[in-house]
Amino acid sequence: MNPRYAVFGQPVAHSLSPRIHAMFGAQLGIAVDYRAVEVGHADFARALEEFARDGGVGANITLPLKTDAFALCAVRSARAQRCGSVNTLVRGGDAWHGDSTDGIGFLRDLARLGFEARGRRVLLLGAGGAARAVAFALADAGVHELMLVNRTRQRIAELKRALRSDSAFGCDLAQVDTLDGHYDLLVNATSAGHGGGAALELPPRLLERDALCYDLSYGRAAQSFLAWARETGAKVANDGLGMLVEQAAESFAIWHGRRPDAGAVLAALRRESIP
Ligand code: NAP
Repeated sequence: MNPRYAVFGQPVAHSLSPRIHAMFGAQLGIAVDYRAVEVGHADFARALEEFARDGGVGANITLPLKTDAFALCAVRSARAQRCGSVNTLVRGGDAWHGDSTDGIGFLRDLARLGFEARGRRVLLLGAGGAARAVAFALADAGVHELMLVNRTRQRIAELKRALRSDSAFGCDLAQVDTLDGHYDLLVNATSAGHGGGAALELPPRLLERDALCYDLSYGRAAQSFLAWARETGAKVANDGLGMLVEQAAESFAIWHGRRPDAGAVLAALRRESIP
């Protein structure tokens, strides 16, 4: 049986992952059988078993299944353990091994943008799975201050505890206008832009001159945050397409033992204006 790969999620029909993995495979001369599997919470475990029976050896997991995947793994990497979610599965024997490549994907895209996180003041919006991965990556990168802002207060406290860092602070989203501002990097790791909801209300003084604003989402979901960033004078306002390609490159390297050129794939997707 040929090894099979897939991304599981809901909705997943418009996922760029099959395309990205095909482009990586073409770059390196590796035939890749990678498809999208539409499945929700209730049927995920069964679908994953079926996939393994049919030759599935690796999978990416996207919304809303990352914590389900975490629970289904027999073994989890340290980085998956820390952020409590899994976006990459590897079949080992009769079990799934889970990893999280979101944090490293984010840091690699920051590096591409020429942003050095060490010593900087960062405001991170959100406290879900992706925000947790980004928070640990930023803490590891040595930021001077990490201000965690989320709608649900309890999740800020949990993340702050898990980070165990003197540089991490928390603030309710409803009180974001009480912050004194001037952050070098503002990261939107909320899913507020999905489904055409109202834009997040953020005071302009949050931004330092020359600030970088980064939205983890891309396409329409990123538009309102990036428009706010540009209007407010951010030096760079960037979507999460580069992070998507970088986290995929990390998964690809885990599965195939070879690292593709993520920059070339990102440039090709940008040329095609995807999304
Ligand atoms: P998640 O676990 O469901 O977390 C969602 C977060 O968004 C929570 O902090 C939630 O706050 C907040 N939120 C949702 N609606 C909101 C609203 N209307 N106003 C304010 N806050 C709101 O999702 P996730 O997996 O962390 O994903 C978050 C985003 O990152 C999504 O847009 C996803 O597409 C993107 N992402 C991108 C990549 C990439 O490679 N580029 C990778 C992973 C994720 P509460 O805690 O209050 O509910």
